Amino acid sequence: MTKSKSDPTDGTPFEAVIGLEAHVQLKTRSKMFCGCENRFGAEPNTLVCPVCLGHPGSLPVVNRQAMEWAARVGLACGCEIARFTKFDRKNYYYPDLPKGYQISQYDLPICNGGEVEVHFANDSGVVRRKIGLVRIHLEEDAGKNIHAEARPESWVDLNRAGVPLLEIVSKPDMHTPEEAGAYLRMLRLIMLYLGVSDCNMEEGTLRCDVNISVRPRGSTHLETRTEIKNLNSFTHVENALQHEITRQMKIKARGEKIVQQTLLFDPEKGETRVMRGKEEAHDYRYFPEPDLAPWIFSEEWIESLRKSLPEMPAVRLQRFQGALGLSPYHADVLVRDVVMAEFFEEALETYDKAQSVANWVTNVVREESNARGISAKEIGISPARLAGLVRAIDEGKVSNQKARDVFKAMLGNTRAVAEVIGELGLEQISDDSFIRNAVKEVIGKHPGPVEDVKKGKENSINFLVGQVMRQSKGKANPGIVLKLVKEELGV
Ligand SMILES: [Zn+2]
Repeated sequence: MTKSKSDPTDGTPFEAVIGLEAHVQLKTRSKMFCGCENRFGAEPNTLVCPVCLGHPGSLPVVNRQAMEWAARVGLACGCEIARFTKFDRKNYYYPDLPKGYQISQYDLPICNGGEVEVHFANDSGVVRRKIGLVRIHLEEDAGKNIHAEARPESWVDLNRAGVPLLEIVSKPDMHTPEEAGAYLRMLRLIMLYLGVSDCNMEEGTLRCDVNISVRPRGSTHLETRTEIKNLNSFTHVENALQHEITRQMKIKARGEKIVQQTLLFDPEKGETRVMRGKEEAHDYRYFPEPDLAPWIFSEEWIESLRKSLPEMPAVRLQRFQGALGLSPYHADVLVRDVVMAEFFEEALETYDKAQSVANWVTNVVREESNARGISAKEIGISPARLAGLVRAIDEGKVSNQKARDVFKAMLGNTRAVAEVIGELGLEQISDDSFIRNAVKEVIGKHPGPVEDVKKGKENSINFLVGQVMRQSKGKANPGIVLKLVKEELGV
């Protein structure tokens, strides 16, 4: 594989080894162990109760929806779903965790193994790789400390305390920041396809810790690693990795040792600083949560979940390229936007020329929705009407270029394609005898270029076609014009 320009180990004797722990907030209606609403952006400390505040005597209850969604994510990633799973207390103190412990899963997580298939483009084309998973477990989120600028005090908002959090732990299977970014983007896409999380990094519903070590290229053993906590954007993940891989390579090149540490990344300065020495599992004194019974998944339940899975991104990508014959580029653009992919598939029900429809959806529809900051389904043209427009182009009723004006005129109403084309006077002329007359006229007027064409100057053909197009006010079908110009000149 050709290494990309963004790979800091490129041209060095080192190889980076990267593992990711992604934290995904599930968008269940209520929290993981209580009935409090699970919602972002509410007034601080308004979505709380004795359970998520950890008041003495309060008892947690497992959110069945969260268990089901965790299992769905596991099934979508090919994990083994535990038939018997349990919760454990992870003990530590921090102001955003007033209970003094987090309910998590230690030795019996919901999902084991599995893999995520990622693809990304680099110098050598599209690279496909399978990144292995270690496990996926469910836990509760902590609250949020709020540090005000230029004021000495800090606050704690516990609205987030107790929100269901899926922790997805990858194997140390990645070697470049680019791969790690592609993996995280695919995880997000899987969650969006399953409808279990919005994975909005700005709102913190997808957060990520990365583990990094650097070893001599060709070596297979794992060396001392550092961990960077709480990265909250794809760019931060890639930048933090770049920085940390470079830092470790410099230390190793000096013959010094890497210290196992937990780091924080400062995106402003583009550097890391030490948060704490790395803690070990035994520091947390895990023990089984005494207030919750173990959870048993029945075979029937797991099977029914497996059957209800939607088509996942990697499978859809293959179908779009294979059965529908889309170019890799168009298939990729569509698969990465759930709503746009649905729009595309609905349009195909009206007109099944997949590549023609894909061209329009990924160009014109996408431009319109990006420009207005809304989804493809909100721009004011139904997939069926868009499909009708694409059909009109393919049938030569309007030129591809003029069709953009028709598209604009179709937004926000329900008028038929033919009606709009007629009203705008944009009907394309595909009538041979009409175009042939125009061609003859242009040939008569431009003896110079005609001579040039006969001498073999290709450009002069384009000039003559341009003249015919101009004479027809852009309405002549350019394909037919070209054909007839060549015919008339005998080339
Ligand atoms: Zn609560």
